[in-house]
Amino acid sequence: MKIAIIGSGPSGFYTAEALTKRAPDSEIDIIERLPTPYGLIRGGVAPDHQTTKRVARSFERTALKPQVRYYGNVEVGRDLSVAELRAMYDAVVLAIGAPFDRELGIPGEDKAGVYGAAAFVGWYNGHPDFRDLSPRLDGANVVVIGNGNVAIDIARVLVKTPYEMATTDLVDYAAATIDAAPVTDVYMLGRRGPVEAKFTNVELREMGRLEDCAAVVDPGQLPDTVTGDFSDRDRRVRERNLKTLRELAAADINAKRKRVHFAFYGRPVEVFGEGRVEGLRIERTTVKDGRSVGTGVFWDLKCCAVIAAIGYRGERLDGVPFDEKQGVAVNQDGRIDEGLYAVGWIRRGPVGVIGTNKPDGDLVAAQIVTADPTSQKRGRIELERVLRERDRRLVSFADWQRIARLEIERAPEKAPRCKFGTVDEMLTALDQERRKAS
Ligand code: NAP
Repeated sequence: MKIAIIGSGPSGFYTAEALTKRAPDSEIDIIERLPTPYGLIRGGVAPDHQTTKRVARSFERTALKPQVRYYGNVEVGRDLSVAELRAMYDAVVLAIGAPFDRELGIPGEDKAGVYGAAAFVGWYNGHPDFRDLSPRLDGANVVVIGNGNVAIDIARVLVKTPYEMATTDLVDYAAATIDAAPVTDVYMLGRRGPVEAKFTNVELREMGRLEDCAAVVDPGQLPDTVTGDFSDRDRRVRERNLKTLRELAAADINAKRKRVHFAFYGRPVEVFGEGRVEGLRIERTTVKDGRSVGTGVFWDLKCCAVIAAIGYRGERLDGVPFDEKQGVAVNQDGRIDEGLYAVGWIRRGPVGVIGTNKPDGDLVAAQIVTADPTSQKRGRIELERVLRERDRRLVSFADWQRIARLEIERAPEKAPRCKFGTVDEMLTALDQERRKAS
């Protein structure tokens, strides 16, 4: 069988891996918009969470299997269409994630100084799309909206010291901007309470171990027990979070130069400022039946930037039915149409950790292998012909390995790598390597 997977993040690679096991004689082509593979492992996972990124090693083993071929620097929707791929391959799997930020839907969110998490995290992680974001971190206060793991990642990266970040792959331009910024206080705004917050306990505990930043928690916002309709597992997670928040609330907040404030029970209602962000108007909330309800009490928080970490949306591709409300491809257990599938966040929305994508890949691989084995699709021969005809410069997996090696070689002492910030820089570096070799 000839199978194309669009996207080389965790969901794409777990699908490729499952297919190498279930259909060992197939040809599996992974098509990626950037020269660099691994999606959110490279561009989303926080730069100070290097152990989480180790899963890329197993993806590399998959990429090096004889059935698998990587086509980097090829954008579906620009260089070729989903319909063309469906004509070339027995199965096409969308593994394109959820690259866009959800909107806040409040007045003023278009002001300079308001950023979505996809853009902000992409900026500090060296995603070429966000190289030029130049976030306005020119005041003491920054507000991060959301109480999920992405919000906590952003808050932590903003307040860690250069010493703490030295062993990470935070990109150099972001490190310089963050180090030079006068930011001392990051407010993490949750529209519900500590029990409903979505961050996991490991991430929460990290906030109590920062070199020069204290966590500010109002003990008056912490309930004595977890009440509500939760599974045993969820209840345990929430009890652990409450315990950690109590410990954080008891710590000395004057011992450190910076602070992350856990601001529960507040929902954003308006970004205000003349031309750019000067502050955020917030409504006090309570939680009723698990939902955030406004109380009609408002307050203003002055800040230089607002970063909305409130979840992501998928991308609509021509020829793929799309659910605008959920921001996902319309699918039934991963099947969109005959020979067309979806895995990961484009299938089920932007929730879950890296490993959540593994069963997704297997679910779809199991369906693909039941398809008609007598098909005569031409697969990669046709793909390469079309891309040659369109004069597209391909980046192979060996090319990516060269880029990765160069990034490691040019890294400062202690840092795992120094990422190239643009696609041009990557391609130029590859050209220079080629010239040296010839
Ligand atoms: P998330 O966990 O769904 O959190 C989104 C947060 O935004 C929630 O607190 C939500 O509040 C809030 N929110 C949504 N709409 C809002 C609005 N209009 N106004 C104010 N607040 C709003 O999403 P995420 O943080 O983007 O993370 C995505 C997934 O990646 C999650 O499953 C996460 O666990 C995972 N992830 C894991 C790690 C890790 O393991 N270290 C790191 C990063 C991401 P409500 O709860 O009230 O809706």
